Amino acid sequence: MRGRKMKCVEPGTRYNHLVVQGMGPPTSYGKSSCIFLCDCGTVKVIDRYLVACGNTKSCGCGGRPMRGLFKSHPRLYKIWYDMIDRCQNPNNSSYSNYGARGATVCPEWLGPDGLSTFIIWAEANGYADGLRLDKDMGSAGLELDIYSPATCKFVTHAENMVCRNKHKPGKSKFLGVSSNSSVKSKPWRMVVIHQGKRTFKRFATELEAALYRDDFIRANNLPKRLNFPDSLHA
Ligand SMILES: [Zn+2]
Repeated sequence: MRGRKMKCVEPGTRYNHLVVQGMGPPTSYGKSSCIFLCDCGTVKVIDRYLVACGNTKSCGCGGRPMRGLFKSHPRLYKIWYDMIDRCQNPNNSSYSNYGARGATVCPEWLGPDGLSTFIIWAEANGYADGLRLDKDMGSAGLELDIYSPATCKFVTHAENMVCRNKHKPGKSKFLGVSSNSSVKSKPWRMVVIHQGKRTFKRFATELEAALYRDDFIRANNLPKRLNFPDSLHA
C-alpha cells in the first residue's frame, strides 16, 4: 500500500490490461469493486483497489493471449476490441446506440479465446483491409442484437451506411424503450441495465414494453426511474 488516496474510478480508465466499465457490487469482504473489460475480451468484477494498486493486471489471462495476435492482426484486433467496447463501455461514443440498447457480443468471441476465434471467423468470411464489421445481416428470427457469426459480415463503408440507416433504432416516449424495425412482429424493446447485466425483451407495442420494464424494476428492487411511478400494483 502506498497510502495514496484512490479517486472514484471513471469508466474508460485503463489499468494495465483492464479498462473500467462501471461500478460493481461490493466484494464478499465488503470492499468496493468495478466491472472491468480485459484486453482479452473477458468482462469481470474485481476488487478495484487490487487493480488500481497494480496487484491485479488482467482478468487472470495475464494478457498472454494478446501479444501475438495483436501484432499479427492489428486491424482485426481493433475491430474486435471496438465491438466489445461499444457494447460494454458507457464512455464509448457509440454506447448509446449499442450497449445501452441491449447489444451484446456472443460468448465465443469473448473471453481468453475470443480474439483468436474472431480472427479465424473473419478470415474465413471475406475479411479484407478496408472492410468494416456489420451486424444485423442474419436471417429472420435470430436475435439481431448480438454480434455473432450468424449476424455479422464484412462490408464496405458505403454498404455499412445503408444498413445502419435501415436499422436505425427509433426513440420512444418511454424510458428504456426503443424500436427496431428489423423485427416486424415485435418492434418495441425494453432494456434494463444494472451492474453491468442487461435484461431485454421485445414487445408488439410501446406501452407493453414500458409496463414490463416498470414491473421488472419493481420486482428486482432496482434503483431506476419508472415510467409510471404512481401506478398501483397489488
Ligand atoms: Zn484477460
